Amino acid sequence: MPTVLLHTCCAPCASVCIERLREAGHVVTLFFSNANIGDSGEYARRLAAVVQLAEALEAPLLVDDTARHEDWLAAIRGLEAEREGGPRCRRCFAFSLGRTAARAQALGLDHFTTSLTVSPHKHTPTLFEVGKATDPIRFLPVDFKKQGGFQRSVELARRFNLYRQNFCGCEFSRAAASRHTGTTTAP
Ligand code: SF4
Repeated sequence: MPTVLLHTCCAPCASVCIERLREAGHVVTLFFSNANIGDSGEYARRLAAVVQLAEALEAPLLVDDTARHEDWLAAIRGLEAEREGGPRCRRCFAFSLGRTAARAQALGLDHFTTSLTVSPHKHTPTLFEVGKATDPIRFLPVDFKKQGGFQRSVELARRFNLYRQNFCGCEFSRAAASRHTGTTTAP
């Protein structure tokens, strides 16, 4: 069975990805690599939810302990004021997918992909471009939001009582979310 490393942005998104990848015959390992999250409390809440999900679904979980927010900030420097969905996000995708691709290669896994495509706020063609540019052989382009993927992630998050955040991840998305109280930019 083909093996896949799933870049895991958060537990609700990962839930539907695990379900669908397994239905397609893949063996899934989760990879929590989120240097975009600068707030340590938020990082801990998201990681705890991913641990909870991994245990519930008996999915192996790897945590990218060496991913540093300072390095992520350096990667997006100059793009801090860009709106969500713009060039800052493309750089952010490249940062996390680059680390995921490197880990998949180091582990000898067949593929890598990302839970980011679950979110209606994430532009799937951009994610596919970045994934293919990172490693055209290993990248598995799956648009998990298709066939009601986002709605399914909400159902599974309720079933497993998973923490659901109301902003994407970085300090810039958090500030934007608080300026537009009531809008949600994350799954
Ligand atoms: S809004 Fe989300 S995808 Fe965009 S840079 Fe921030 S954390 Fe990354």
